[in-house]
Amino acid sequence: MRLRSLMAGAVSTALAVTLTACGGSSDTSNQPSVNAEANFEAGTTMAKLKDAGKVKIGTKFDQPLFGLKGLDGTPTGFDVEIAKLIAAKMGLSADKIEWVEAQSKVREEFIEQGKVDYVVATYTINDKRKERISFAGPYYEAGQDLMVKSDDSTITGPDTLKAANAKVCSVIGSTPAEKIKEYVDPANVVLFDGYSKCADALRTGQVQAVTTDNVILLGLVDGSNDEFKLVGKPFTEEPYGIGIKKGDTKFCEFINKTLTDAVADGSYDKAWKDTAGKVSPETPKLPELDTCS
Ligand code: GLU
Repeated sequence: MRLRSLMAGAVSTALAVTLTACGGSSDTSNQPSVNAEANFEAGTTMAKLKDAGKVKIGTKFDQPLFGLKGLDGTPTGFDVEIAKLIAAKMGLSADKIEWVEAQSKVREEFIEQGKVDYVVATYTINDKRKERISFAGPYYEAGQDLMVKSDDSTITGPDTLKAANAKVCSVIGSTPAEKIKEYVDPANVVLFDGYSKCADALRTGQVQAVTTDNVILLGLVDGSNDEFKLVGKPFTEEPYGIGIKKGDTKFCEFINKTLTDAVADGSYDKAWKDTAGKVSPETPKLPELDTCS
């Protein structure tokens, strides 16, 4: 945990520094090299998906930098690139992927019901979720933060929300939506099903702050034409995992190996640089991986 908190600090510093850097759109031409010779033990999820020749992946469609659906219908972002690396290791190129929008509140349900084979969607690993599903990773560590209007000087951290009598927007089924109730009256928490709606509510003055992970907010700030700013004081640790069926240890181990291989061969770095790295240039260090169970 100590490592994670240090990393969260480092990430937030990097985010704060790079917010002034220019933004950019994601590179849609990115194709990790496909492992055509992939060969897996019969009965494993990897063998099943490889034999099927296709995979369904849950991700976000409205989160710039991590998962944002473009005009051509395919999403782009760091989560999307991580998802593609895993598919490629199973011999599946990007055109074999069916992308499914997995909003915060439906992720466990989609995995349990087999609507998706795995979820890469700014998905915090925690014990409550682990009662229903398993996680590989973490592949990234974010931290909950606040986004406010650029000219707001009263909200400078979660402890200032009460005095500002602020209404705060977050998303149903997300960890930040729960955490923020420690700082504001639940009656002042406004919940939608996606973060783009929170950004609209901030723009129109229905709420005075949006809360979720710093990297999600960074994407919204980057696209706001200087209308919004990140407060820049993360107050939680949000290790992002890849959600899979509960107890699928072999798939978890395979994904973890894919992540360490991706660091070694530079594809993790490329995935970052092509996406979130356009706004936050420093590639994060892969967090220490959890044991699969
Ligand atoms: N990482 C947090 C979560 O998994 C917030 C981001 C999200 O809603 O996807 O709940």
